[in-house]
Amino acid sequence: MRESRIGERSEVSQSASRRLRYAVIGAGMAGILAAIKLDERGEDFAVFEKADRLGGTWRDNRYPGLTCDVPAHAYTYSFAPWPEWSAYYAAGEEVRTYFEWVAERYRIGASIHYGREVVDCAWDDHAAEWTLTFQDGVTMQAEVVIAASGVLHHPNLPDIPGLSSFAGEAFHSAQWNDCVELDGKRVGVIGNGSTGVQLITALHDRVERLVHFQRSPQWIMPVPQFVYTDDQREAFRTNPALIDAIRNDPQYWSNIYRFADGLTDPESPQMGEIEAYCRANLEGTIKNPELREKLRPNYRAACKRLIYSWQYYDCVQSPGVFVETGGIDKVVPDGILMKDGTLHPLDVIVLATGFKADRFIRPTVVRGRDGRSLDDFWATRPRAHFAVAMPGFPNFFMLNGPSGPVGNFSLIDIAERQWGYIDQLLEPLRAADARAVEPRADAFEAYEERRVDAARKTIFGSGCTSWYLDKTGVPAIWPWSYQAFADAMAEPVLEQFSFEPATQEA
Ligand code: NAP
Repeated sequence: MRESRIGERSEVSQSASRRLRYAVIGAGMAGILAAIKLDERGEDFAVFEKADRLGGTWRDNRYPGLTCDVPAHAYTYSFAPWPEWSAYYAAGEEVRTYFEWVAERYRIGASIHYGREVVDCAWDDHAAEWTLTFQDGVTMQAEVVIAASGVLHHPNLPDIPGLSSFAGEAFHSAQWNDCVELDGKRVGVIGNGSTGVQLITALHDRVERLVHFQRSPQWIMPVPQFVYTDDQREAFRTNPALIDAIRNDPQYWSNIYRFADGLTDPESPQMGEIEAYCRANLEGTIKNPELREKLRPNYRAACKRLIYSWQYYDCVQSPGVFVETGGIDKVVPDGILMKDGTLHPLDVIVLATGFKADRFIRPTVVRGRDGRSLDDFWATRPRAHFAVAMPGFPNFFMLNGPSGPVGNFSLIDIAERQWGYIDQLLEPLRAADARAVEPRADAFEAYEERRVDAARKTIFGSGCTSWYLDKTGVPAIWPWSYQAFADAMAEPVLEQFSFEPATQEA
């Protein structure tokens, strides 16, 4: 491949604009975003979704208590505010309704092809296009692929001995079994990440006995929750400026930036504040000293993704709730047997054990230049230039790909900024000046080296286990400030990319 810098582009051509063919993989939040943006431009695109409904994580997760822990008015597309949110933090079902409303309002429904699982994406150097193969062997070509396949998508099923011998019902939180009766039952929840904590808050007064199996305690950030009244919603409908005022609330954004600063510098005053809040929450809310010590983490706040909850500590002190911190020996037909011999008799076991966070688009096979596979490129860890693109995989972009700022931030805001970045990279292709774009290998390796170095120094690398860590123990996350992310996404450094001139086509 002959590389050309974008600086040379003006000499290549000033030719007419070209309509590219795009394949978007996934109809969750990011795929919907891509579809709307491409539709606005009048581009030729299709969205392929393996399920029969849109919504991604909000379609898959339906467990009781599911709540989005980003304020609802901030967890919306910037161009599609929604006056109907019922509360400051919205329930999962409402978030799903929001995405369905957006898809309808922006009329992208006809572009989404359901039941279409992309199993293979292969780059053809000669034609400068991707061939996508679906589960039924059908193929199609696209010049640009947008992988909007989500981050936390593949359930992590724990390898606990005897699980299959359980006489009751056992299922993962993201594979909720609606047919299972919970009221008045004995329920065990394994895992105390955001999911496990939300489950306990929802179930504590519904079941006869609730056992929360906690392998390592979590820091809990107290946050306020309140409902919006009918009058407020009516005001939001008639005066969108009121929504803007919430979305753009300087205090909210100041908190986001301060929070991100804290994550990147464990010794910062911002991180000190976060820890003080969490510690005061634990000390001030949990009355029983024994329970308080069970719930006290021995690692720094925000090392694992911080849990936002206004209820957990109250609910966990309810009479029917028991926090089990011992090691699980095995599951037996009647319940869960602990290593100390204690048996917790149970009717239902919920596995709130998280997700395989290193999968991204996989198991779809992706083969770039010279047939190089994504598995090979990601042998050490999932990695991508500024989280969106990879050398050797031309015209292939990810929304919410590896090492983005997946924290306690709005992934919608992140995806919108990433889209802006990708959109600019595609401009030379649309202008017919180039036919392929990818990060330069040297620029990417330099970036990744810097990222890994910085990631080790973040709070996520301060000594705990979490889904943020890759298999080598390096936090797989954006390690700089949120402002640095916003700045990076505002304008790609074009010198870091190779643009293959369109003239090669001849
Ligand atoms: P998670 O944070 O990865 O937590 C998994 C939990 O399962 C941890 O407590 C872990 O213990 C435990 N676990 C895993 N394997 C186990 C085993 N074999 N035996 C015992 N315990 C085991 O997963 P999650 O709670 O589903 O949350 C994942 C992410 O989803 C969140 O961090 C968040 O990004 C997202 N989420 C967001 C919201 C929201 O409101 N926006 C809601 C839910 C989830 P250890 O800590 O000891 O490993």
